[in-house]
Amino acid sequence: MVKNLIFWLVITVILMSIFQSFSSNDISDHKISYSTFLSEVNQNQIREANINGHIIHVTKKDNSKYVTYMPIHDLKLLDNLLIKNVKVVGSLPEEPSVVASIFISWFPMLLLIGVWIFFMRQMQMGGGKGAMSFGKSKARMLSEDQIKTTFADVAGCDEAKEEVSELIEYLKEPARFQKLGGKIPKGILMVGPPGTGKTLLAKAIAGEAKVPFFTISGSDFVEMFVGVGASRVRDMFEHARKSAPCIIFVDEIDAVGRQRGAGLGGGHDEREQTLNQMLVEMDGFDGNEGIILIAATNRPDVLDPALLRPGRFDRQVIVALPDIRGREQILRVHMRKVPLSKDVDPMIIARGTSGFSGADLANLVNEAALFAARLNNTVVSMMELEKAKDKIMMGSERRSMVMSDSQKEATAYHESGHVIIGRLVPQHDPAHKVTIIPRGQALGVTFFLPESDTFSISREKLESQISTLYGGRLAEEIIYGSKNVSTGAFNDIKVATSLARNMVTQWGFSEKLGPLLYAEEDGEVFLGRSVDKSKHVSDETARIIDEEVKLLIEVNYNRAKVLLNKNIDILHAMKDALMKYETIDALQIDDLMERREVRPPKGWK
Ligand code: ADP
Ligand code: ZN
Repeated sequence: MVKNLIFWLVITVILMSIFQSFSSNDISDHKISYSTFLSEVNQNQIREANINGHIIHVTKKDNSKYVTYMPIHDLKLLDNLLIKNVKVVGSLPEEPSVVASIFISWFPMLLLIGVWIFFMRQMQMGGGKGAMSFGKSKARMLSEDQIKTTFADVAGCDEAKEEVSELIEYLKEPARFQKLGGKIPKGILMVGPPGTGKTLLAKAIAGEAKVPFFTISGSDFVEMFVGVGASRVRDMFEHARKSAPCIIFVDEIDAVGRQRGAGLGGGHDEREQTLNQMLVEMDGFDGNEGIILIAATNRPDVLDPALLRPGRFDRQVIVALPDIRGREQILRVHMRKVPLSKDVDPMIIARGTSGFSGADLANLVNEAALFAARLNNTVVSMMELEKAKDKIMMGSERRSMVMSDSQKEATAYHESGHVIIGRLVPQHDPAHKVTIIPRGQALGVTFFLPESDTFSISREKLESQISTLYGGRLAEEIIYGSKNVSTGAFNDIKVATSLARNMVTQWGFSEKLGPLLYAEEDGEVFLGRSVDKSKHVSDETARIIDEEVKLLIEVNYNRAKVLLNKNIDILHAMKDALMKYETIDALQIDDLMERREVRPPKGWK
């Protein structure tokens, strides 16, 4: 904007100086014809004649002045004037100043150059975002010195930051890694809800490593015409190769990367071609070219498995909604840019904004600043921040994500139930982290170690799993009564039931039925295949299977109920800890299980 202004200012000054130089020749005295002048000379009316080429400034004896032009070079005039005793003064023909004459001769040239620079500028602006836009690929490139984002601007997702930090080293010095034959991932999939800072994080990697950053959205590839998307992909990679090392960021990759063959109707041929081209390009570079692809999605489940194969987007980085601490840090990042009054405590805002994403929090600070400006305040105070929070919470689009306090409490009890039972039943993997920050469909999550699959599990362990799965629902039931349990346990029930069913029908854990296979192995369910499953067993057997499944569940459900009732004090304490910290780790769980004072989580002040 400022540069534009300066540009126009310069143009104006040039134009003005040119007109000035022209107008300096302008004559303010009035003009008289040459013949009148001559006759006045003859009548002795003239005192002085100032001859300047063809222009004569005349002063009459009565002190009036005028100007006249000599139509031809009148050689006799001088004699004439001298005879009539007129004072003759000569002066150099008035020439435009040197600067002005340079301007005049160069003006068309300068104008052309100016226009050319102006258009180049416009092109580089690419819609005013300061990025170069390619006509063909629609990808926008930010060169290394255009990126101002660093890791300091990304707050509250330390795990994700840690996971991507090695990429920076690599992008800074690809040669060092190549010499050692190190394999650096080519493709990274950032998974997380909208507004959690996936774009920001990718940009920060480029900013830290000082490499160019290409960005394109998956929906840019999806075009009306078949083949356009594919050629865009090709074009984008071509550009990227030229500027390696660099980062290509593909936003909304699910727009192109949906499972092939799963689409119905139009546009799906095009998507398939685009996706294929992307895979070809990804396989085409061997990972040592210094191009790293980062794709973002909040639906990793719909992606084509081909995209996730080794050598492609084989690494996932989860960028989750921030917890209390994260929200506080994000608020601090954005509050740096606004003047704050002394009463502002980001922690209090962080507490009341469960379920907010980083973008929501950035928006909150911005709204508060606007409120303050509207009130003509010089600083943003707590009142404006609270008002902005309410405004965003009321906003319809986020209502589903933002949890009320009572919902939060119910979730805290639910997750605590899982954790406590998981700790008390034999052979269960220990919970290493619990959170009541919503993720995907779930309001809260309990993570058990190890998260990877084991190939063979003992019966005791399976039963413990069933008990633990019911721990969540049981906690709700014990605290709120059976009438007030929520539907939140749907997934738990589903998993527990299918575990129990598999134990009975596939793994031979039922005494009554014996070690026989009563159902097809769970594989991909093709249409029509799961339907005739029941034909393998008689009605009588089917009834026994149901009974056995129910019995298995009942036994483990009741065991969990007894355990939870016995440790109800831990349940309350864990709920309190979760309400306070939102996410707690193994250390806090240890403290709670031992009925000790809970130490604050890492990084908590
Ligand atoms: P996504 O790509 O995940 O949808 P963005 O990276 O586009 O989200 O985030 C949008 C904006 O929200 C950012 O420009 C930034 O201002 C703010 N924001 C989001 N996450 C964070 C974070 N972790 N730290 C600081 N600001 C954030
Ligand atoms: Zn649950």
